[in-house]
Amino acid sequence: MRELEECIVAEGIVKPQGVLKVDAFLNHQCDTELFDHMGAVWARLFADAPINKILTIEASGIGIACVAARHFGNAPVVFAKKAQSINLDGDQYATTIYSYTKQREFPVIVGRRFLSPDDHVLILDDFLANGYALEGLIGLCDFAGAHVEGIGIAIEKLFQGGGDRLRSRGYRVESLARIQSMDGETGAIVFA
Ligand code: 5GP
Repeated sequence: MRELEECIVAEGIVKPQGVLKVDAFLNHQCDTELFDHMGAVWARLFADAPINKILTIEASGIGIACVAARHFGNAPVVFAKKAQSINLDGDQYATTIYSYTKQREFPVIVGRRFLSPDDHVLILDDFLANGYALEGLIGLCDFAGAHVEGIGIAIEKLFQGGGDRLRSRGYRVESLARIQSMDGETGAIVFA
């Protein structure tokens, strides 16, 4: 998606260890017009899928998913919550996700009321790196018996391999900007 690539080039900052900072439009300040255009592209790409729910993870996924939902017949958006600890009271599906940016594991939960075998889920998130966040979200859908129709990602860092692993397992992953490589010293970003 050219518009997203242009935002990344104009405002993205390449940090050490393969991290791209996009606080100016995606992760802190939010460009809602860009989010709207991203939603329109995902809606076109997944037009043949019977999506009735969108699943994301707090915090950065929420804004993107809520704007995108307007292009999916106002499908409800559920976000996995990052919990302090897993409280297995039976009301929640829970798993743990390893955070690449924070370099630690944290528990995530979704209320059982909000995910069921009737759901045809589109998972949306801001970044795909190693795929740990998505593995966790897919796991929550599996616990609930919900069907994962596809995965929409704003920025995929191809060099971390998570997307390939998910695609080889049969998941349909559509990324709007695909980064082949980034140079932490020059700040250069190469798109696929
Ligand atoms: P993964 O679980 O695929 O390794 O990483 C995806 C998650 O880590 C995303 O939900 C995102 O929050 C965070 N993340 C991974 N790489 C980056 C990055 O380069 N920049 C930012 N801002 N977040 C990232």
